[in-house]
Amino acid sequence: MDIARLAALLPSGAVVADPDAIERYSHDESGAGPFPPSAVVFPKTAEEVSAVMRFAVATGIPVTPRGAGTGQSGGALASLGGIVLSLERMTAVREIDAGDLVAVAEPGVILGDLQRAVLAEGLFYPPDPASLDMCTLGGNVAENAGGPRAVKYGVTRDYVLGLEVVLPTGEIVRTGRRAPKGVAGYDLTALLVGSEGTLGIVTEVTLKLLARPRRVETALFVFGDMVAAARAVVDITRAGLTPRTLEFIDHVAIAHVRPKVPELPIPEGAGAVLLVEMDGATDAVLDDIVRVDACARKAGASSTVVAEGEAQRATLWRARRMVSPCLVEANRFKVAEDAAVPRSRVADLVAAFHRIAAAHRLRACAFGHAGDGNLHLNFLFDDSSLKPEVDRAVDELFRAVIEMRGTITGEHGVGLTKRRFLPWEQSARIIELQKALKRTIDPRGILNPGKIFL
Ligand SMILES: Cc1cc2nc3c(=O)[nH]c(=O)nc-3n(C[C@H](O)[C@H](O)[C@H](O)COP(=O)(O)OP(=O)(O)OC[C@H]3O[C@@H](n4cnc5c(N)ncnc54)[C@H](O)[C@@H]3O)c2cc1C
Repeated sequence: MDIARLAALLPSGAVVADPDAIERYSHDESGAGPFPPSAVVFPKTAEEVSAVMRFAVATGIPVTPRGAGTGQSGGALASLGGIVLSLERMTAVREIDAGDLVAVAEPGVILGDLQRAVLAEGLFYPPDPASLDMCTLGGNVAENAGGPRAVKYGVTRDYVLGLEVVLPTGEIVRTGRRAPKGVAGYDLTALLVGSEGTLGIVTEVTLKLLARPRRVETALFVFGDMVAAARAVVDITRAGLTPRTLEFIDHVAIAHVRPKVPELPIPEGAGAVLLVEMDGATDAVLDDIVRVDACARKAGASSTVVAEGEAQRATLWRARRMVSPCLVEANRFKVAEDAAVPRSRVADLVAAFHRIAAAHRLRACAFGHAGDGNLHLNFLFDDSSLKPEVDRAVDELFRAVIEMRGTITGEHGVGLTKRRFLPWEQSARIIELQKALKRTIDPRGILNPGKIFL
């Protein structure tokens, strides 16, 4: 690759090719790789992104967009080499408008920073992936990220009103609108959200905001049996209750976080817990927690902890967010899947996952967004020779998920690591239609090639 020619198109310091400096761009949180790129570019404007794409079109060199590299399916990896295009220097929050209930921001803004800026104006941006203090808005849009609050408020797609995007050809276009409603033409914004960096590079996001809920109550429901806890999920929704979070944490996850959060108010011997939050504008929120408690007790909960004050609430959420990092720290290998099934099948998913893991003599840990039917299912092991056994267990797990009319990925995307399973879920015709869209938008196949489809 002609690095000097590329560097001449951009301001000084925007192209880095030193192997040591670009080493961290050869991997991400998927564990795949390493895939070292030939160069990493750091544009600061849409025009600079466009210049990189025009160079790529002229030379046929692949370009892989990258936010913070927290993705868990390898989407930000330059698996076919070429250029990694990092948006990390585009970090301006351009506007927060309390009248229009809109925020406009660059793609490199860290999600947690946007949430704090919005909150300071008395407003609310709900999507809350556990990686919120690391991941970027561009990565959230590309992966259609969700989090615990998706059960009530939905995922990133529900908040993206409009986008500025650099197409693989280098053209700069705007999709969507700023108005709260609009139905003109095909919804290209919705197509771009969740396209995993394969259809365009997001250079600006217009996001819908909400008014901040004035009252939030958090409670933990403790079950002796993890399948009973999972079963309670559908009982709670059947009772007409809409928690803003409904998280499941099994006993293996609890055991991993307990040493790090000794003040965690979960009794020894708990099989699983549900972490539930209700929000609203009035004291009726507390009544709703009492109704959730009645459902949970009926389903077998043995005790309840209602968070007293912000400190205890923060402890409960710290414990929840630490599950994944604690699993990584305590186990040499973790293969994490993020299947989603209809809510009524969550208990079946928990049971099937643990049964499959036991049959393959693997340690297992399930936690996550049970209210959305979306669980993080982790196979844990220390001996690398068990990898083929894990692959067989994952195959069985996905067969079971699809039989339950679920999906192979609720949050993390197909990327590089789940391409093999896409044909299990989607017909050949649907996959061909998606590939045809990709060819129309990216005729030279240079933007994030080798992702989603085999
Ligand atoms: C501890 C931990 C917890 C997590 N929890 C959650 C969770 O609760 N919910 C959830 O949904 N995810 C979760 N994730 C996954 C990850 O954080 C999200 O997918 C996040 O949206 C990725 O953002 P990023 O900036 O790190 O993107 P990257 O990892 O850098 O990239 C991800 C994808 O987005 C593309 N991309 C990045 N920026 C752009 C852009 N500007 N334009 C076009 N494409 C772009 C890349 O090419 C790649 O395909 C978690 C990850 C970790 C490590």
